[in-house]
Amino acid sequence: MTTPQDIIRRDVLAMTSYPVPDATGFIKLDAMENPFSLPPVLAAHLGEHLAGVALNRYPAPRPEALIEKIKRAMGAPAACDVLLGNGSDEIISMISMACAKPGAKVLAPVPGFVMYQMSAKLAHLEFVGVPLKPDMTLDADAMIAAIAEHQPAIVYLAYPNNPTGTLYDDADMERIIAAANKSLVVIDEAYQPFAQQSWLPRADQFDNVVVMRTVSKLGLAGIRLGYLAGRSTWLNEIDKVRPPYNVNVLTQAAASFLLDHIDVLDSQAAELRAQRTKLAEAVAALPGAEVFPSAGNFLLVRVPDASILFETLLTARVLIKNVSKMHPLLANCVRLTVGSAEENAQLLAALKLVLH
Ligand SMILES: *Cc1c(COP(=O)(O)O)cnc(C)c1O
Repeated sequence: MTTPQDIIRRDVLAMTSYPVPDATGFIKLDAMENPFSLPPVLAAHLGEHLAGVALNRYPAPRPEALIEKIKRAMGAPAACDVLLGNGSDEIISMISMACAKPGAKVLAPVPGFVMYQMSAKLAHLEFVGVPLKPDMTLDADAMIAAIAEHQPAIVYLAYPNNPTGTLYDDADMERIIAAANKSLVVIDEAYQPFAQQSWLPRADQFDNVVVMRTVSKLGLAGIRLGYLAGRSTWLNEIDKVRPPYNVNVLTQAAASFLLDHIDVLDSQAAELRAQRTKLAEAVAALPGAEVFPSAGNFLLVRVPDASILFETLLTARVLIKNVSKMHPLLANCVRLTVGSAEENAQLLAALKLVLH
C-alpha cells in the first residue's frame, strides 16, 4: 500500500496550505482588496461582453490586442514585451522555475512579500532575506554586500513593499540594480495604482530588470491577472515554463473590456489614496499607535499588543492581518487595508476600543 507520506516531498508534507481566513460577516481589511464594486451599468455591459465569449475554445496563446492595451495602460516602453500570468503569483512561480539551477539563490529584503520565499522554496532555490532598517527603509549597503556574497540569480524589489508600505529610495534602487549586474532584478509594482511611481518607463534602459504588475489591488483581484514587462530576451525564456492557456478566456475578456474603462478603476484608486491619508492621520493620533509611511492601499501600524488588538477587532467583526510573527522587525505590528470611508470609520471605532 502507498500513502502520500511515501510519495510527497518531505518539505511539502511539512508545509501548511496558504491560509485564507473565512471573512463571512466581517469587514474585510486583511488582503488589500479594493472595497468598491463596478458601477451597475458598467457591470451589466461587462456581463453582455462576457456572454459573447467562446467558452468552448482554448484561450489565445498570446492575446496581442490585450497585450497592446496593457502596454498602453501601463505606459510601457515600445521596446518592452509583456508576459501574462494567472495573477502575479504565477509569474513569480514561472520566474523561480525558469531560474532554478542547482545552487541558485533568490534574494529579497525582509520583511517582504511571502510568495518570493515560498516560490523559491518550492523550486529548490535558496532564499536569502536581507533585513530592512528598523524604520522599514532599504538597507542598500547590506543588500549590495549580500548580492556580492551570494551572487543571487533573482533579486526581488517590491516597489512599494508589502507588508511595510515602504517606497524604496530611487537612488538605493539604482545602486542595487547596478550591483546586481549578474542577477535578474524583478521590480514588483503590485501597488502602483497607490504609489503612482514606476520603474516601467525606464525598464528598457537596464539589461537586468523586469517589472511585474497585477490588476488585483486595482479592484480586479477575482479575475487573477498579472503581467511582466521587460526585454523579450528575458520574457521569451520565462514564457517557456508558462503553463499553456494559463490566462482563461473570461479573464482575458474582462480585462480587455475594463481596460477600456480604466478611468473607473483609476478614480476608485484615487479615492483610496485620499482615504489612506485620512486613515493614517486618524490612526497616528491614537495613543500607542506608530504608523509607518505607506505608498500602498494599506498601513503598517505598531501597537502595544498586536494579539490583543487583533482579537478585539475580530470581536468587533473587523478582519485585519496580524503580521507581528512574520519577522522580528514587525514585532507588534498589524497591517490594515484601507477600505471605504464607512469601513475605515468602523475600523477606527474598533481600534479605539484598544488604543485609548
Ligand atoms: C498582492 C501582491 C501580489 C500578488 O498579486 P496577484 O496578482 O493577486 O497574484 C504580488 N506582489 C505583492 C507585493 C503583493 O502584495
